[in-house]
Amino acid sequence: MDLTSRLTALKGVGEKREKLYQKLGINCIGDLLEHYPRGYLDLTGSLAIKDASDEHPCAVRATVTQKGATHPVRRGLTVTKVRATDMERDLLITFFNAKYTVDALEIGREYIFYGDFIRRLTGGEMNSPVVISAEESGFLPQYPLTEGLSSKMVSAQMKAALEGCQSRIKETLSTEIMQKYGLCSKAEAICGIHFPVDQAELEKAKKRLVFEEFLAFSLGMSLTKGRVREESGNAFANLSTEEFIRSLGFELTGAQKRVIEECKKDMCSAVPMSRLIQGDVGSGKTAVAAACMYFAAKNGFQSAMMAPTEVLAAQHKTTLEKMFAPFGIKVGLLTGSMKASEKAAVKSQIESGEIAIVTGTHALIQEDVAFKSLGLIITDEQHRFGVRQRMALGKKGNAPHTIVMSATPIPRTLAFVLYGDLDVSVLDEMPKNRIPVKTYLVGPELSQRALGFVRNFAKEGKQSYIVCPLIERTEDSLPLEAAADLAEQIAGQELVDCNVDLLHGRMKPAEKERVMNAFAENRLQVLVSTTVIEVGVDVPNAVCMVIENADRFGLSQLHQLRGRVGRGTEQSYCILISGSKSAETKRRLEVIAKTTDGFKVAEEDLKLRGPGDFFGYRQSGLPMLKMADMMTDIKLLELAKKACSEILEEDPRLSKPENAALSRNIQKLLEETAM
Ligand code: ADP
Ligand code: MG
Repeated sequence: MDLTSRLTALKGVGEKREKLYQKLGINCIGDLLEHYPRGYLDLTGSLAIKDASDEHPCAVRATVTQKGATHPVRRGLTVTKVRATDMERDLLITFFNAKYTVDALEIGREYIFYGDFIRRLTGGEMNSPVVISAEESGFLPQYPLTEGLSSKMVSAQMKAALEGCQSRIKETLSTEIMQKYGLCSKAEAICGIHFPVDQAELEKAKKRLVFEEFLAFSLGMSLTKGRVREESGNAFANLSTEEFIRSLGFELTGAQKRVIEECKKDMCSAVPMSRLIQGDVGSGKTAVAAACMYFAAKNGFQSAMMAPTEVLAAQHKTTLEKMFAPFGIKVGLLTGSMKASEKAAVKSQIESGEIAIVTGTHALIQEDVAFKSLGLIITDEQHRFGVRQRMALGKKGNAPHTIVMSATPIPRTLAFVLYGDLDVSVLDEMPKNRIPVKTYLVGPELSQRALGFVRNFAKEGKQSYIVCPLIERTEDSLPLEAAADLAEQIAGQELVDCNVDLLHGRMKPAEKERVMNAFAENRLQVLVSTTVIEVGVDVPNAVCMVIENADRFGLSQLHQLRGRVGRGTEQSYCILISGSKSAETKRRLEVIAKTTDGFKVAEEDLKLRGPGDFFGYRQSGLPMLKMADMMTDIKLLELAKKACSEILEEDPRLSKPENAALSRNIQKLLEETAM
C-alpha cells in the first residue's frame, strides 16, 4: 500500500464504498489522508450527569438501565426512550429514528453520550446524542461526509491508511524552515490532525498545516504577480491633474491626495497597475477614481468604471458628467437593461473614441464592447464582483491599468486572500466636517416615534431613508418587513404630508432611475427601499435612516446601509429597529450602534459568521484554505509571508529540488482556484 493506492487496498472498503469516497473527491490513499476533520467531539473531559452543562454540547458518561419500546409518532418518525444512570443522577435519552443505535446499546454497559444536555431536577435529558463506547477517549474526528459514510467508518479507514502509509508521507518543507518556525513534520501533522490525543497536539498539527497552506498561497500569489507584471501596458506621461482637482469644489483629504499620487505613479509605468483602493463608506473614493480617469483622458486614453448595480452605475454617470463637462470630456453609460438601439449608439461612440469615460454594470464585460484605446478600468464596490469577472475585464484592451475599489473594509488577512495579487492603497481619512452618524437600537414599539422623527426632518427640508428586508409581504413575514406595504401604509397615514416613494430591485431600470433622481433632487423626502441602496448611493441631504427588522441584515451590510447618511455636514441619525429577543442578535446589533469604524464592524462580522459566509465568497472563486481560520491565524499568515520572501530570495522560480514538493502544491492550489 502506498499513497497512490486505490482505497480498496484498505480493509472495509469495496468498490461501492470507494465510489462514495470518490464523491468527496477522494481517489487514493493520499487524498484520504488529506481529508481533514471539520471538527472534533471532545471526550477529554467526559462528565458526570451533575456536572454536565446545558450551555454547550458535552460528553456525559452513564450506564444504560432500561430501553423502552420504539413507537411510531407519525409517518417516518419513531421515538425510543432510554434510561441511564451514573449511580448519582439519572439521564433520560430520547432517540429519533435510531433503531439500530438503540438495538446496539447493552443494558448494564457504560457509554459516553455526546450532545446538548437539558438539566432536570433529578438529572438531565438528552435528545439524539451521539453514542460512543466508554473506552474511547481524546478527540473524536468528525469528517465532511456524504450519504452512506459515517465519521466512524471514515475514522476506522483513516487509522488503517495511517498504519499503512504514515512513513510514506513526504515532507514538503525544508528542515531549515521547520526549525525556524517551530513546525512539526508533515507526517506528524497528519496523524495529529486526525487523531490528536490532546489539545496541544491538535494545535501543533493545525499550526503546521495552516502554515503550509498560507505559504503555498503566498508563494502562488507572488509567482502570479511576477508573471503578470511584465511591461505590456501603456506608460502614461506624468501630466498635471491640478486643474481638475481644483474644479471639484472641495479640498481633497490628505489620504485622497496620497492615493491619487500612488495611482498616477503606477500609471506612468509600462507595467500595468493592479491596485486595490480600500476606503470606508464616505471616504471619497469617487473623487479619487475621477482624478485617475481625468489623468487617463488627458493622456488620450479611455476609462471604464464598473458598478455592481444599475442604480449606482447611473448615479456615477450623473456625477462624472458634472465633473467632466467643464473639460469637454464625454461620459457614457452602458447597462444590461438599456434598449438595443441605445446600446448600439453608446458602443459606437466608445469604438470611435468620442466617449472617453464609460460607466456601467457587468454589461461592460459581457457585451462585445470594442474600445478605441482603453487605458484604465475601475471596478467600484468590488466585493460584488468575482475574481473571474475581474480577470475577464482585464483582458479587454491592451493590458489596461486596473483599480479595484472596495467600500467594505476587509480585515487584513482576508484582503490578502481576496486581493493578494494587488497592491493596496487605503483611504484612511474622512473628509473634514463629517460628523459621525448617531446610531440607536430600539424595539418595534418605538417604530411610530421613529416615523415622527422622519416627519420632523421632512418639515425642515431634510430627507430620510426607510429600509426593509423584503419587497412584498409574504405569509410568514413580520409586520413591517415589506417595503412596498410599508410605503403604502405610511404614505397614507403617518407621513401623509410628505412625499414618499418606493425603490426596490425588481423595479424596471427606468422606474428606479426616476425615483432615484427625484430623491437626489429633493423632490422626495422619504425613500422606502430594500437593500438596493446599500451600495454607493450618494445624497448628502439625507440625514436619517430607519432600518426595520435590522436583525435580518448582516453587520457589514448594515454598515454599508448606514453609510448612505452622514454624507453632508449635518448631524445624521440611524435608527435600527429590532424585535429580536435573542441575546446574541442584540450583541451583534450593538456592535453597529457602538462603532462607526468599518474595519471594526467587518472584523466582528467575520468573527460571528466565519469567512465562508463573509461575502458568500465560495461563488466568487476564492481559494478555500482547508484548515485556515482567518481571524485566529493572522500571526501565522504573517510568518508564512516572511518565509515566502525568504524562500523566493534564495530560489525565485522554485526550481531547486528541496522546493519541488512545495512547487507542486502551489500548482495544484492555483489550478483549483483558477487564478
Ligand atoms: P465613497 O467612498 O463611499 O464612494 P463618495 O466618493 O461617494 O464616497 O463621496 C461621498 C461624498 O463626499 C460625496 O458627496 C463627495 O462629493 C464628498 N466628498 C468626497 N471627497 C470629499 C472631500 N475631500 N471633502 C468634502 N467632501 C468630499
Ligand atoms: Mg462609492
